[in-house]
Amino acid sequence: MFANVCTSCGKRELVFSDQIRNLRQTATGFDVRYECTCGASQVWHVERAGASPVSVAA
Ligand SMILES: [Zn+2]
Repeated sequence: MFANVCTSCGKRELVFSDQIRNLRQTATGFDVRYECTCGASQVWHVERAGASPVSVAA
């Protein structure tokens, strides 16, 4: 379960596992595709911890 702002209805909603349609691994983490309670298809990108050396600038 996670919370995300829908790009369609603009609401911050809790997303439950039964709303998740697809998980896709990317270079930096994974994309979670889910359906908002308004019916819009949404994507939530999750960064994998420690997997973004490109953005590290001391
Ligand atoms: Zn929505």
